Amino acid sequence: MTRTALRTLTARLLIVGPPGAGKGTQASRIAAAYGVPAISTGDIFRANISQGTPLGVRVQAILDSGGLVSDALTNEIVADRLAEPDAEHGFLLDGYPRTEEQVRFLDELLDADGQRLDAVVRLLADEDEVVRRLRLRAIELGRSDDTEEVIRHRQDLYARETAPLIAMFAERGLLVEVDGLGAVDEVTARILGALAERGLVAPGV
Ligand code: AMP
Repeated sequence: MTRTALRTLTARLLIVGPPGAGKGTQASRIAAAYGVPAISTGDIFRANISQGTPLGVRVQAILDSGGLVSDALTNEIVADRLAEPDAEHGFLLDGYPRTEEQVRFLDELLDADGQRLDAVVRLLADEDEVVRRLRLRAIELGRSDDTEEVIRHRQDLYARETAPLIAMFAERGLLVEVDGLGAVDEVTARILGALAERGLVAPGV
């Protein structure tokens, strides 16, 4: 693909799925395929916590308890991040939006620039497998927010607050559902294939 074509290609994507479904891994790969930044609000919060920034100090207790950071603060952080030059032609948001208020905010933010979402990738994963993955990750990474109690709390929160958003995206015709189980490469190929079917062909794929 030529440079000109690359510049005109836009991909404004979300990736959703229960915590532990492999979103982060797939997000980096899909974002790289489209040449857009993968933006994870969880990663932004964790980076601020580990750097001891004022934002990190504000959100540490919330992340440790598995609760959600306020919509106002989260929206502000996403607006700032999407205003950066690397997000001009698209982005892949991971972990955001998580509430109806965040969906509304993102819609308005994009609309103000005459933009809209292109697709929402939903990773499907069996709950037992998801819990197994999270336990493994907690052991491997020593993530302080991944105790068993917190894992359950985050799964509950996901079901209660985020799953209804999926119905909204489905209604808008944005939802692309992909089986998240299997080898990482296979899942990536499934996602890219499903997006290509919607006309979002990644350069070089
Ligand atoms: P994640 O890595 O996406 O599971 O996010 C880790 C934690 O960061 C979550 O448990 C929340 O405390 C916080 N967080 C991440 N994204 C959001 C969001 N969109 N809204 C509110 N809190 C968030």
